[in-house]
Amino acid sequence: MKILAIGRNYTEHIAELNNEVPDEPVIFFKPDTAILRKNEPFYYPDYSQDIHHEVELILRISREGKNVDKKFASKYYDAIGLGIDFTARDLQAKAKAKGLPWTLAKGFNGSAPVSDWLPVNEFADLQNINFRLDVNGETRQKGNSKMMLNTFDDIIAYISRFITLKQGDIIFTGTPEGVGPVQIDDRLEGYVEEKKLLDFEIK
Ligand code: MG
Repeated sequence: MKILAIGRNYTEHIAELNNEVPDEPVIFFKPDTAILRKNEPFYYPDYSQDIHHEVELILRISREGKNVDKKFASKYYDAIGLGIDFTARDLQAKAKAKGLPWTLAKGFNGSAPVSDWLPVNEFADLQNINFRLDVNGETRQKGNSKMMLNTFDDIIAYISRFITLKQGDIIFTGTPEGVGPVQIDDRLEGYVEEKKLLDFEIK
């Protein structure tokens, strides 16, 4: 399986990192070795001093899709979850300055904690899903899927023009504003609506 992610999909988050609103979606990969499941702890790596949390709604791909038309895109994912797109902001800043890829800044071990899944049919409106991240009991990020520049269906249609989606793939759909550093001993709790889907520690 593979993990695909979209960057710069929420206007306020683009502004907080002083980035420009992209003409085309910014897409990157994380390897399957980035995944942490079942609230396993995240071990702070020694090659970064600035790991940031980015809480994101994630999609589970349910069938193979190539060149998926937007109007059929909703048939290609069957569940929504919550993930953290951990980013080594210091490594990313270096890469950005040189126009180099974000591979190591985004794909390192443990950089993709993912929650259990909620079936799509449990949601009344996929374009109105509230989610948030609390760090040590304090809300740091709050988003709603209606604030996305590219909807779930836009993302599926766009990515599948270039990269065939396969059952079991995961898509990270972008983070709202409020990203920031994590520290050893922090406790991260992530919610979709009032359901707690993530609860793990930085070690
Ligand atoms: Mg992200």
